[in-house]
Amino acid sequence: MIAAQLLAYYFTELKEDQVKKIDKYLYAMRLSDETLIDIMARFRREMKNGLSRDFNPTATVKMLPTFVRSIPDGSEKGDFIALDLGGSYFRILRVKVSHEKKQTVQMESEIYNTPEDIMHGSGTRLFDHVAECLGDFMEKQQIKDKKLPVGFTFSFPCRQSKLDEGILITWTKRFKASGVEGADVVRLLNKAIKKRGVNCTGTNACYMEEMRHIDLVEGDEGRMCINTEWGAFGDDGSLEDIRTEFDREIDRGSLNPGKQLFEKMVSGLYMGELVRLILVKMAKEGLLFEGRITPELLTKGKFETKHVSAIEKSKEGLNKAKEILTRLGVEPSHEDCIAVQHVCTIVSFRSANLVASTLGAILNQLRDNKGVGRLRTTVGVDGSLYKMHPQYARRLHKTTRRLVPDSEVRFLLSESGSGKGAAMVTAVAYRLSEQHRLIDETLAEFKLTHEQLLQVKKRMRAEMEAGLKKKTHETAKVKMLPTFVRSTPDGTENGDFLALDLGGTNFRVLLVKIRSGKRRTVEMHNKIYAIPIEVMQGTGEELFDHIVTCISDFLDYMGIKGARLPLGFTFSFPCKQTSLDAGILLNWTKGFKATDCEGEDVVYLLREGIKRREEFDLDVVAVVNDTVGTMMTCAYEDPNCEIGLIVGTGSNACYMEEMRNIEMVDGEQGRMCVNTEWGAFGDNGCLDDIRTIYDKAVDDYSLNAGKQRYEKMISGMYLGEIVRNILIDFTKRGFLFRGQISETLKTRHIFETKFLSQIESDRLALLQVRAILQQLGLNSTCDDSIIVKTVCGAVSRRAAQLCGAGMAAVVDKIRENRGLEHLEITVGVDGTLYKLHPHFSRIMHQTVKELAPNCDVTFLLSEDGSGKGAALITAVGCRLRDAEQN
Ligand code: ADP
Ligand code: MG
Repeated sequence: MIAAQLLAYYFTELKEDQVKKIDKYLYAMRLSDETLIDIMARFRREMKNGLSRDFNPTATVKMLPTFVRSIPDGSEKGDFIALDLGGSYFRILRVKVSHEKKQTVQMESEIYNTPEDIMHGSGTRLFDHVAECLGDFMEKQQIKDKKLPVGFTFSFPCRQSKLDEGILITWTKRFKASGVEGADVVRLLNKAIKKRGVNCTGTNACYMEEMRHIDLVEGDEGRMCINTEWGAFGDDGSLEDIRTEFDREIDRGSLNPGKQLFEKMVSGLYMGELVRLILVKMAKEGLLFEGRITPELLTKGKFETKHVSAIEKSKEGLNKAKEILTRLGVEPSHEDCIAVQHVCTIVSFRSANLVASTLGAILNQLRDNKGVGRLRTTVGVDGSLYKMHPQYARRLHKTTRRLVPDSEVRFLLSESGSGKGAAMVTAVAYRLSEQHRLIDETLAEFKLTHEQLLQVKKRMRAEMEAGLKKKTHETAKVKMLPTFVRSTPDGTENGDFLALDLGGTNFRVLLVKIRSGKRRTVEMHNKIYAIPIEVMQGTGEELFDHIVTCISDFLDYMGIKGARLPLGFTFSFPCKQTSLDAGILLNWTKGFKATDCEGEDVVYLLREGIKRREEFDLDVVAVVNDTVGTMMTCAYEDPNCEIGLIVGTGSNACYMEEMRNIEMVDGEQGRMCVNTEWGAFGDNGCLDDIRTIYDKAVDDYSLNAGKQRYEKMISGMYLGEIVRNILIDFTKRGFLFRGQISETLKTRHIFETKFLSQIESDRLALLQVRAILQQLGLNSTCDDSIIVKTVCGAVSRRAAQLCGAGMAAVVDKIRENRGLEHLEITVGVDGTLYKLHPHFSRIMHQTVKELAPNCDVTFLLSEDGSGKGAALITAVGCRLRDAEQN
């Protein structure tokens, strides 16, 4: 008993002695946390250089984009072949990905021998070999005549400018085939495959991963996967202080001296060799094996990395050491075995530590990218060293967590190696490129060419002419309604006026006090009233009773019930006017649908309402369209303003037309403002060639199907709906929201146009777009967000361009009316879409410039055109009426 204890004590002492001895001998390989943190910072700098455009050309760590924008999201399916070249073995795999309920991946694979002379021979021979193996594999799998997509895991540093191209920068590891560096390996492979007559669709994906180490897969979608190629870390000398004589010796004896210095310190490929070199030196110095050196020990490659793993096993490790060393002929003593075991530990521990520090740098980068204090992420790891070595994984995890304490890192063993990775990436790449193609194809319909826009302008012009002419007015869709507003304000307008604003988002009653003279002022008081939907879509009498009730309330509120003030009625619907104070409603638009109004004079309906109430009297002077109000408001500031434009709930424009051209009103002299009612442009089918199925869907489900087709492509009430319809379609086709159409998405009008403004804002990061969609109840990935943003952009851009084409027709008509080479004119504009959308106005202005190059058009924002404008029109009307009476 005592003897045994003594013996154990003796061994412990011995072990400690040996360990101390080795520790001292290899002190340069034992890196403190301080050093590791320093290396982490160095690697972070290298990453930054690699990622920056300016420094990348000279950076050692290349940070190569892989053009893989997304990790597999579970929706990929199909039958794929993956070639895995660059690992310990050359493997070919067939991967079937299906997902009935749960995603399943079925794999069959075959390992092919790649003889040394092929790895070091000519590139052509190497790729012929690969193609030959592929042919064999397909034959065995009985898929010779199936055209399956092939993914290519090519684990060497490649430069990719697109998904299906990879220019080999330099061979690493055991490969050194000639004529391949600087060439596109995908092309070489395709060529070989073709030559061999193998029947497959050719490689479409070249995805590289640092396969023996850590394949960083971030737990977040929508970013491009970066292949750091960190193996080259240190190639510029930045690791010289920690490289040992053994590392230098390894490098000198390698196929690529001076390159991949970090890799040579950490990878399994060199680990056994590192240990061997150390053992040789120690033996030579008499520190091991009593100085015995055998030819085996001196032979490169005789001590393998798998031996390191075996020797480091906790229980049988020492026995394994004895076995392995005996085979090398060095007749190891027990102390030797302990010492060698400790050498192995130091070398493999250093590897894990170094990998932890570079990984730590990446984790910090991710954390900073995301702007979170605490990063939670998953690292997918592959590589036999990580898998087979008994302690490696645990040490790597531990050191990583110690180096980046503010991150929660989960390590996930990549299930079936890089072959499956390649197939998954192939699948993702396939899905993405096919999707992008289809998405682009769909959205291409929204991209109007200059020619098409010129056509729109031309057709608008033709429709305007038709509306103005007596012969064609009846059937014309763009009604070109006379407004009986014959002049813009001249500054002499004076008095107190009431205004009603019906037809916008809100119904308002206003009191407007206009003062003329040197210091012209306009003072306004207003109150907003709701019009309940049952009133909007009830009977006409109910609607006008409601309006009169609101007026009554307002007069009380302002304390002016007794005064018989002149009133302007802004009524923003198409009206056929026969005088300033008579307007027959042609048809409701936007959300209105009250009965018994179409075909009636709305001033009459208002007057009747006032009579029914028997409470007050008002002098209804003018019925005003909001476009006209907008023009008048801006004209009050800028006499050059002779056009009004609305891009809000709906869209419409008015402008000063020559009386001689307005055949519906007698008289040839002077001008009159014409309310174009251009929203109805296209109702005769003349825009059908540019309308999409989504426009038709929005139209079909609207209150006024078939009507206001131009407006429905432009204005706030509809843009969101168009987007929603596209999103539904894209989801059905599996491009979005993982193919799941949520209840939210099915809800009409859920996607308001204001969301387009938010989503398209340049200031917004993708994550914020995602947050907006989240608020809407649309659970989206970052990829989804990109697509949604693209859709919004396409829809709003087309809207702005169409609107600009219409405006170009108007300004050119005015220019021609006046026989001018060049026209300078101002457009008064109102409408929330125009005012708040981040790009609409700019694109619209640009379009006008391009389509009407001879006009110099200024756009002036209108301040409350419906209220102030109505009062100004009323004032002008009163002035003219008084002049007539006198
Ligand atoms: P109206 O034309 O009815 O007088 P507005 O000019 O305020 O009223 O326009 C209302 C329309 O503007 C609504 O249809 C709405 O979809 C749209 N809208 C509201 N907010 C925004 C925004 N931030 N960006 C773009 N459109 C918006
Ligand atoms: Mg309005």
